[in-house]
Amino acid sequence: MIKKIGILTSGGDAPGMNACIRSIVRAAHKNNIKVVGIEYGYKGLLNSNFINLSPESVTNIVHKGGTILKTNRCEEFKQKKYRKIAYNNLRNENIDGLIILGGDGSFKGAYIFSNEFKIPLVGIPSTIDNDIYGSDYSIGFNTAVQTIMDSVDKIRDTASSHERIFFIEVMGRNSGHLAIHAGNATGAELVLIPEINIKNLDSLVKKIKKINIKKKSVIIIYAEGCNLGPVDKITNYVQKKMKNSNVRYSILGHIQRGGSPCEKDRINSSLLGYYSVKEIIKKDKSKMVGIINDKLIVQDLKLSIKRKKEINKDLFKITEIINNY
Ligand code: ADP
Repeated sequence: MIKKIGILTSGGDAPGMNACIRSIVRAAHKNNIKVVGIEYGYKGLLNSNFINLSPESVTNIVHKGGTILKTNRCEEFKQKKYRKIAYNNLRNENIDGLIILGGDGSFKGAYIFSNEFKIPLVGIPSTIDNDIYGSDYSIGFNTAVQTIMDSVDKIRDTASSHERIFFIEVMGRNSGHLAIHAGNATGAELVLIPEINIKNLDSLVKKIKKINIKKKSVIIIYAEGCNLGPVDKITNYVQKKMKNSNVRYSILGHIQRGGSPCEKDRINSSLLGYYSVKEIIKKDKSKMVGIINDKLIVQDLKLSIKRKKEINKDLFKITEIINNY
């Protein structure tokens, strides 16, 4: 029987992590399972940064962004000798199951660790990138899209008043999910993502010129990992080729990560947290809980790290069609 579990948040923070921690603690309490919070992600596992989490200790956090457990990256965890230290620390604390909130990097570490030491483990997709294979949903994504929307709407006012062309860089080093959703929701004329290469800068200029003739202002959502390179250099290039236009860029940066979670990120985080406790009780090795077509699902963690989640091609195509004429 599982008597005590540990929770940690790893990699980038995501709005909704706290709602999920709260749900795990309360669901575990109902099942007479003690919960230890492991601070600073895998680093805290190496350093025994353990705190007891009682149902009262997670009061008043459902609406807070970030993570009360803090998060970090930990290069040492990629080496077996350090993972062994982490395992011994868990044994010393009598922790017999782990719930990990993080993105694909954190899931890789979780999968390796769980298999190496045969410890029951459940991963919960928690990344604003929403790039975990096997789940439509990831904690934080919807809040981040909302934040981007708010910013782009404001920039749009200036772009159309001054008839400017704006590149707006959003997060997404390897994936364009955020850019596509934000692009659709804001009516952006162009969405550039890492998954689809643009032939060269001149073909991009041609596209922008065509749109600009009709619309007089252009919003381009630019995911940071696009094949054309840094957004400032691209902006300079386009400006040189479009001397009569005013071309600007704006990098939204870390405002995309924080903030109070939206309704969906609170509710889904609560559901996933509850469901992860139901799974850990079964003592299976390395599982992931997620949401597909609005239903909670469980899958092997291995699957989520072996495959890349595809972009929503329909949404991308429809966005291109309806955001232009
Ligand atoms: P995210 O989980 O948001 O994708 P990272 O890719 O930075 O964030 O990964 C977070 C942490 O997961 C890393 O700092 C490291 O501790 C752990 N990790 C990532 N890849 C591995 C790996 N191959 N083996 C062991 N641990 C890993």
